[in-house]
Amino acid sequence: VNEPLLAALREVVGPAHVLTEPDVRAGYEVDWTGRWRGSAEAVVRPGNVAEVAAVLGASAAAGVTVVPQGGNTGLVGGGVPRADAVSQIVLSLVRLDERGRVDGGAAQVSAGAGVTLTQLQAHAGAAGLMFAVDLTARQSATVGGMVATNAGGLHVLRYGSMRAQVVGIEAVLADGSVLSRMGGLVKDNSGYDLAGLLCGSEGTLAVVTGARLRLWPRPTHRVTALLGLADLPGALSVLSRLRSLDTLEAVEVMFDDGIELVCAHAQLAAPFSQPHPCVLVVECAGLDDPTNDLAGVLSGCPEVLDTAVASDSGGRQRLWSWREAHTEAVNALGIPHKLDVSLPAQRMAEFEGEVRALVTSVALGSRLVLWGHLGDGNLHVNVVGPPPDDESVDEAVLRLVADLGGSISAEHGIGVAKRRWLSLTRSSADVAVMTAVKRAFDPTGMLNPGVLLPAGR
Ligand SMILES: Cc1cc2nc3c(=O)[nH]c(=O)nc-3n(C[C@H](O)[C@H](O)[C@H](O)COP(=O)(O)OP(=O)(O)OC[C@H]3O[C@@H](n4cnc5c(N)ncnc54)[C@H](O)[C@@H]3O)c2cc1C
Repeated sequence: VNEPLLAALREVVGPAHVLTEPDVRAGYEVDWTGRWRGSAEAVVRPGNVAEVAAVLGASAAAGVTVVPQGGNTGLVGGGVPRADAVSQIVLSLVRLDERGRVDGGAAQVSAGAGVTLTQLQAHAGAAGLMFAVDLTARQSATVGGMVATNAGGLHVLRYGSMRAQVVGIEAVLADGSVLSRMGGLVKDNSGYDLAGLLCGSEGTLAVVTGARLRLWPRPTHRVTALLGLADLPGALSVLSRLRSLDTLEAVEVMFDDGIELVCAHAQLAAPFSQPHPCVLVVECAGLDDPTNDLAGVLSGCPEVLDTAVASDSGGRQRLWSWREAHTEAVNALGIPHKLDVSLPAQRMAEFEGEVRALVTSVALGSRLVLWGHLGDGNLHVNVVGPPPDDESVDEAVLRLVADLGGSISAEHGIGVAKRRWLSLTRSSADVAVMTAVKRAFDPTGMLNPGVLLPAGR
């Protein structure tokens, strides 16, 4: 135990916010899936930007590395201590939960890194606006974590991912200096876009302490449809016709084996009287009721074999329940290998067929569950069965993705889970630039080592 460091940290944030007891630290030291864990000298919970800077200063002086953490819902192991690190702290940003006044004229709001997505959505909603990123981990995922992972979620096809919502950023660099571009300028071409660069940086470049975020008009009407289909090619052709709807907000895909699992886990009834191999959740939203437009498009889709539609909140929630319960249902089966990938639209169906055969042959007896954000070409490949440290199935799936022209991470990031394979879909020139950027921001490598960049970078 590094007592001088702990004393310095207590001085900065107060003794109540330096957590050292193993059972108190435990929840911060293991990730949501249970696959990644390590041990930290302490979990430190600063309450403002100056304290974040002072914590980084004390850690740098002690030669201790820092793992930034928000809601700890990340799925690639980047927000928990490394198993093999000598001395590290977890820097929890959850106390930075300040919400600024919603600027209705500019449709923007400032939020601290620790504000949860649910809090942000409620805050924007109370002012008659909407924060557009939405994901199932909304109760815990934080603004800082969502910026750091460039979170995607359910609405990317209409509003873009987190990067598209970030108008400005506040962040503390490894040397304790503070970047602050929170003025809300929509147009600002005065040099490199540092806010954009920090989106997706996974805690390796700076500690995000706040963000200036774009808000959107809040749709007054919503309609959700659950569609039963024979296969993924059919779903893709429905998707291409749905794209004509400017109210289209979400197109999510699931498969019969995943739905069966979810029904057993969450004690839900089957969505349709007979099972369908492939099921879509489609949502449209607007200032006018989009139901007729959606029905018009669907009436021209012979691939749709079964339909359930709801526009009231309880009914819509019910239609979403099968999709939303997938992540938890898979976790309940065992520690999953989570491979969140994206594919070019024209290779999606080929990938789905090939990955099923591949997983069966590489990980005999394992269980594969697929679902995803079809509108973004994003599938979540979940494999339960192989031990957490057996990476053969991860490698085989990611190589297939690379062969088909996809990305090994659609939205969860690289973290510790995929750093070995970064070069499968990023060129050596890409990795060299990323390494140079890392060195410029964090020359001693104290911020989240072991995440994103390959070993030795
Ligand atoms: C049920 C479930 C559903 C999910 N669905 C989606 C989905 O649809 N789309 C999606 O994109 N993701 C999804 N995720 C993954 C996860 O919710 C997102 O990655 C989210 O953005 C993580 O936010 P967090 O606050 O929990 O970050 P954490 O898990 O705490 O951290 C994630 C990464 O960000 C870094 N970090 C955290 N805070 C900061 C900060 N303030 N400054 C610098 N670095 C920081 C960490 O070091 C780590 O590398 C899901 C997760 C779960 C459990």
